[in-house]
Formats: sequence, structure tokens, C-alpha cells
Amino acid sequence: MKKSVVWFRNDLRLRDNEALYKAAKASDIVYPVYIFDPRMFRLTELGFPKTGGHRLKFLLEAVEDLRNSLQACGSNLVIRVGLPELILPELAARVGATALYCSKESLSEEQKVEIALEEKLNQMKVRMDSFWQHTLYHEEDVPWPIRQVPEVFTSFRKEAEKTVQVRAEFPTITELQPFTDIDAGKIPSCNDLGIREEESDPRGVLHFRGGEKEAWQRISYYFWEEDLLKNYKFTRNQLLGGDYSSKLSPWLSLGCISAKSVFHELKRYEQERKKNISTYWLFFELLWRDFFRFMAKKHGAKIFMINGLNEYSSEFSENHGLFEKWKNGETGEPFIDANMKELLLTGYMSNRGRQNAASYLMHDLGIKWTWGASWFENRLIDYDASSNWLNWAYIAGVGNDPRNGRQFNIESQTARYDPRGEYISHWLADAAISKSL
Ligand SMILES: Cc1cc2nc3c(=O)[nH]c(=O)nc-3n(C[C@H](O)[C@H](O)[C@H](O)COP(=O)(O)OP(=O)(O)OC[C@H]3O[C@@H](n4cnc5c(N)ncnc54)[C@H](O)[C@@H]3O)c2cc1C
Repeated sequence: MKKSVVWFRNDLRLRDNEALYKAAKASDIVYPVYIFDPRMFRLTELGFPKTGGHRLKFLLEAVEDLRNSLQACGSNLVIRVGLPELILPELAARVGATALYCSKESLSEEQKVEIALEEKLNQMKVRMDSFWQHTLYHEEDVPWPIRQVPEVFTSFRKEAEKTVQVRAEFPTITELQPFTDIDAGKIPSCNDLGIREEESDPRGVLHFRGGEKEAWQRISYYFWEEDLLKNYKFTRNQLLGGDYSSKLSPWLSLGCISAKSVFHELKRYEQERKKNISTYWLFFELLWRDFFRFMAKKHGAKIFMINGLNEYSSEFSENHGLFEKWKNGETGEPFIDANMKELLLTGYMSNRGRQNAASYLMHDLGIKWTWGASWFENRLIDYDASSNWLNWAYIAGVGNDPRNGRQFNIESQTARYDPRGEYISHWLADAAISKSL
């Protein structure tokens, strides 16, 4: 009887999941596992945990949804809390598995875990098969070895668009053999993981809920029922409500839906409904996500460093008092404060808000951009290490921006994107009133 372990990471789905699909095809019994790694919840040097309440809640919902889906297939999801490189070899030995399947991550910390795990599994003669699953483009299909992936987005996009095809989706697994020889374990609560539970503020853009089903409901709403995709390019810079952008990022970051699936659904929409600049633009934005993922693989731990990718250094202060004000939406600059309140109270902020809030922290307040990136890491329900840290580095001028950084003029951005102060008063009723007096 062939047994294998499938280690779920940021790929919490059944549809288009190469690791699960290949394990199911090659084995009689599959043991799906998710591990809550305590390193995700440790305190940063700034005194807050790496993962905050909103982000953890979304993750717990996604794990629960995956467990329900696996149960509906006849199987289950084994849950553990601890270090994957220790737990997985023990589990493989216990059930007599001869192979472990998982997604390949591209960031330095996760890669270290993969290397340690593979060493242990090799000693036990358990094969480890890992798959590149996070992006639209497969790493083996792009026309450059990782060291030569272009540093400028436009060069990356133009060459990739010409030469690379997005691969087909893997079929969805619908049936798996049950197992009863190990305890599946309980999904921990926020409290069990030492994180304060946080309820999302009802003023948020959407009631986000983790899980594959919710991801597909969002596609269904945004693409098909409301037909919002056809205007995406012209609405994507707005700030209020659920409809101005796809809001797919939280599900994409945990892999509740694959970027490939979004792409194929987009192509179907273009064939059946409409093909225009907006449909292209959603693809264009997804290419930014791919680009940052390839950059993170190319540059490793440098993406987290104050001097970034190009070793260009500039002076930043470590003013904790001002940083606290920024975090809490109390700087006195209404547009920034409104955005920071939204982030604090919901775990989401628009792309326009993120660009302004980041620029304000580093260029106006002069505070270390890495502090801001850490706070976003704690808050964002769509936190994705490569997209987060490399967007921050880009604005700081130490990333992939050929223009050496961006400073946003907050006054003109407010006038352009919130001309009637509706967004500001949505989040800061008092501040908007006092400014207009
Ligand atoms: C300082 C800063 C930090 C950010 N941190 C993150 C992060 O941790 N996780 C994250 O997913 N995005 C991050 N972004 C990118 C972007 O703001 C979000 O992806 C977007 O706001 C999510 O909303 P949406 O799904 O409605 O986006 P849409 O406008 O609908 O875009 C569709 C998808 O394209 C991708 N995308 C769009 N813009 C970008 C971008 N600039 N960089 C990379 N991918 C992009 C996302 O996957 C997004 O879901 C950050 C941007 C900035 C400026």
C-alpha cells in the first residue's frame, strides 16, 4: 500500500493543486497536513507579533474550509502546531509514508525549512517532491535563469508576455481514501496561538472570509454576477466599497485560489462576455505579483533589508512615538490616518492607500521603511512577503524602481482620489469635520 503525506502551505485549495493531485494519483492513501508554525506568531523587535488577529482569523477560516472540503472527499486534514521540519518526518515515519508532496516557496526563511525537511526525509528514504505553484508563469517556462530575471518590471512583462504561456489547471481531486491510524487534531484558536482575536470593523470594504469556496464566490460576484471586471481599470484606484477592485489578494496569498485559475477564468470572461483594457489590466496587475515573486527568489533575504536590492543606503529615523501615531492613524494627516485606521481595524487597505501610507511614513516622517513593512505584515489579511516587502522597497527607492523611489504628495493625492472627503469621513468623521471648518 503506497502512502504519502501532502503538506499544505500557501496552497489551501483542492482545485489546481499540483502537489495534492500528483500525490493522489501516485498513492493509495494520502495524509493531508497543515502545520501552524510558531515562528509565524513570534514577536518582532518592534513589540508586535508577525501575524496579527485579522490575518490569523482569515487563515483559520481558510484551514477550516480546506478541512471541510477534504472531509467531503472522504479524507481529512491533519492539524499540528510546531516546526514542520520536525513534525513531518515523525508523521511520515508513523504512518509509513514513502513520499511527501508540497509547494515550493521562494523566500529565504521558507526555503531554509524546506532544506532542513528534505535532509531529514532523505535520511529516512522518504522522497520529497515540491512544486512551483504560486504564480501565473511557471519558473521553468520563463526565458531566463533566476539570476537573470530582469530587474525592471516592464522588461520582465514584455519578454514574458511574448514568450510564456500560462499552463493549464490541474484537475480537482474529488475523492480520497480515508485514514484512521492518526488523530487529525483540532484547529487551534487565536488564543491557543497567543494572538489576540480581532473582529473586522463593519465599515470595511468587504466581509472577507478565508477559504476556497469564498474565493470562487468572489470571482462569481466580481466577474459574472455584477460584471465589474469590464470597468476594472477605471475603478481600481478608488477607496470605498467592495466593487472598485477584485479584492482577490487575501485568497491568492493563502492559495485558496491559484493565480492560474484566475487567469483561465479571466480568459473565459473575455470569450463569453467582454475583452477590453480592463480585462487586460487585471492580468497586468497579476504580472506584478509574479514579478515580485521572481525577484524575491532572485534576491533572497535582501528583500527584508533596509538597503534593499541595490545596496543604496539613505538615512531613516527610529522615532517610536511617531511610528505609533502612524500605526494607529493619529498622525494628523487625515488621508493617511483614514487609511491607517482601515488597515488597523480590518486588515485591508486599497493599493492607493498603501502607496500613500508607505510614502508618508518613510518620505514625510523619515521613519525606517522596514518598520512600516513589518506593521503591514502583522495587519494585512493578504500579506504576501514578496509583494509586501518589494512594494515597500520600490517606494523607498531600494527595490526595482528605475526612478529611484516614489514620494507621493499627500495633498494632491487626497484632492485627486478623495475630492469630497467621503473616504476620510467614512473612517474619521471628526477629523474630516474639523478640517472643513
Ligand atoms: C506598500 C505596499 C504593500 C503591499 N503589500 C501587499 C501584500 O502584502 N500582499 C499583496 O497581495 N499585495 C500587496 N500590495 C499590492 C496591492 O496593494 C494589493 O495586491 C491590492 O491592493 C489588493 O487588492 P485587490 O485584490 O483588490 O487588487 P486588484 O487591483 O484587484 O489586483 C488584482 C491582483 O493583482 C495583484 N496585485 C495588484 N497590485 C499589485 C502590486 N502592486 N504588487 C503585487 N501584486 C499586485 C494582487 O494579487 C491583486 O489581488 C502592496 C502594495 C503596496 C504599495
